[in-house]
Order: sequence, then structure tokens, then C-alpha cells
Amino acid sequence: AIIVSDFYTNPIDEAEMLTIKKLSKTYTNGVKALSDLNLEIGAGMFGLLGPNGAGKSTLMRTVATLQQPDFGRILFNGIDVLEKPTELRYVLGYLPQEFGVYPNISAERLLDYFATLKGIDSNKDRKILVSRMLELTNLQDVRRKYESGFSGGMKQRFGIAQLLLNEPKLIIVDEPTAGLDPAERQRFLNLLRQVGTEATVIF
Ligand code: ADP
Repeated sequence: AIIVSDFYTNPIDEAEMLTIKKLSKTYTNGVKALSDLNLEIGAGMFGLLGPNGAGKSTLMRTVATLQQPDFGRILFNGIDVLEKPTELRYVLGYLPQEFGVYPNISAERLLDYFATLKGIDSNKDRKILVSRMLELTNLQDVRRKYESGFSGGMKQRFGIAQLLLNEPKLIIVDEPTAGLDPAERQRFLNLLRQVGTEATVIF
């Protein structure tokens, strides 16, 4: 079973709502990862709690349109997520459990590259955006450094910087604090909280 704990809710923004109805998933090996899951949350920060194997990652990957459930429905701000995954991706920021980076490129250039992939064509706009993200995630000082030299905490913050590039309304972060020391973990959660006031954040 998964417990959803609200760390922070934003009661002002009622327009925003993630609704999950009767979501079920059984993998081909017979493991039932999700069974008739129902959930309705608005803007704010929500933690999925549950032991290993409870189905947290399965749920997050499904909402992030990376895999299909067997049954169920997912709606976000009027978008039917399973029917129109591309529409959701425009407003989605996702940080997977394993976040691979290109090691021999600076944080700044890599962010610029991700911004290009997210469709920001203007050089000037990208420059402003990348600089803003580096500042927000406190990576300004190490922007010319290679990712390969980053600590676990820096990599996580870079992960947040890249997911924020399209100003997402739905942010999904899988296992954000695994392998971080307590101080880094606190910084990471504070950062999520700071960026997540207008969005729905699931971690
Ligand atoms: P959590 O994130 O809570 O640890 P997961 O969603 O990763 O849980 O896994 C839920 C269950 O589904 C586990 O028993 C896991 O072994 C199984 N599982 C996850 N992914 C797959 C897969 N691709 N194929 C088969 N079984 C899987």
C-alpha cells in the first residue's frame, strides 16, 4: 500500500487537480504493483510513502506517461493523461530514480542543451532561463564544471534545474533524497518546496 502524505498544500489554486481513478497494473511476471488506486490532489507537495516494492515508482512512471497501466484513468487540469500523453509532457517536470548525465560537458551547456530539446529556440531566452535555473538551484558557482565532478547533492539539484526549464505545473521526483546526507536532503526538500508552490509536486 502507498500512503500519500501532504507536506504542503496550496489551497488557493483550486483550478489545478490531479485525479487518478481505479489505476491498476500487473507486470507480465505476475507482480501486481498497483491495485485499484484512487487519488485526488491539488497544488502542493505530496510524498508517496511505502516500503520497497509498494508501487511508488510504478505510479510515478505511469503518471509521467512512461508506462501504461492495465486499467484506470488519470486526469490533470483537464488533460486525459493516458489518451494525450504529449499534452501532459508540455506541463510535466520529471526526475527519474536514475538520472544519467553526459559527464564531459559543463552544467551550463548541458542545461542549455536540455532547454533546446524542450523547444526554447531563442539563444537569448535560453541564456536567461539557464542562468535563472542555475541561480535557483545554487549551482551558479559550478556552472562551468563537468557533471562528472558533481556530488550527489549537486546532481540532484541539477536534476531539479533541468525539470524546471519548461515551467512545469506537475513535478514528479522519484527517490530524490536517496544517498544524500541529512543537510543536503533538507536543502533539496526546501528547494522543491520553494519551486513547488504553484505546482503539484509528487516525490
Ligand atoms: P517502489 O517504487 O515502491 O519500490 P516499484 O513500483 O518499483 O515499487 O515496484 C512495485 C513492484 O513491481 C515490485 O514488486 C517490483 O519488483 C515490481 N516491478 C517493478 N517494475 C517491474 C517491471 N518492469 N517488471 C516486473 N516487475 C516490476
